[in-house]
Amino acid sequence: MILPIIAYGDPVLRKKGIEISEDYPKLKEFIANMWETMYEASGVGLAAPQVGRAIRLFIIDASPFADDENVSEEENAQLEKMKMVFINPKIIAEEGEEWAFNEGCLSIPDVREDVFRQPTITIEYLDENFESHTKTFEGIGARVIQHEYDHIEGILFTDKLSSLKKRLIKGKLSNISKGKVHADYRMRFPLMKKGR
Ligand SMILES: [Zn+2]
Repeated sequence: MILPIIAYGDPVLRKKGIEISEDYPKLKEFIANMWETMYEASGVGLAAPQVGRAIRLFIIDASPFADDENVSEEENAQLEKMKMVFINPKIIAEEGEEWAFNEGCLSIPDVREDVFRQPTITIEYLDENFESHTKTFEGIGARVIQHEYDHIEGILFTDKLSSLKKRLIKGKLSNISKGKVHADYRMRFPLMKKGR
């Protein structure tokens, strides 16, 4: 089932997600719905708060980046396999010199900006079978994870912009929360006027 994606301005996007246990109700079904919702919106990642649940869970499929011409063969091989579920994740290390990458977000349609982040991360997480892993990711793969990880911490990529950039997109963000934006997928807007 396709779930509506929660737009910028909704308080659920600002909550720090809580950890879940294996008996979280209908978890399999919820994850299946998240996949369907993410692919319908042509996204490469989706975090549970973006569909209204402040829990520590996100999914990514970074394989579309494997075709990118700027990506090394080694990175390609990793990206192709990066269809993953992260439950109760914890980034335990972030390393290297910050680099800029143009990010967007399904909750913030029509806004894309360069964001600086460190290139290498090590993350502990449970997969969809609640098996524990510790893995290191680099480059775009790390980037997608960092963006989604921020969501379960209540952080959005627009928080990381310079104060000048923030001022420049302020009106756009306020319009998004009111539903004055076009998206090719189903959304829920916190400040949209009902009726009429
Ligand atoms: Zn996002």
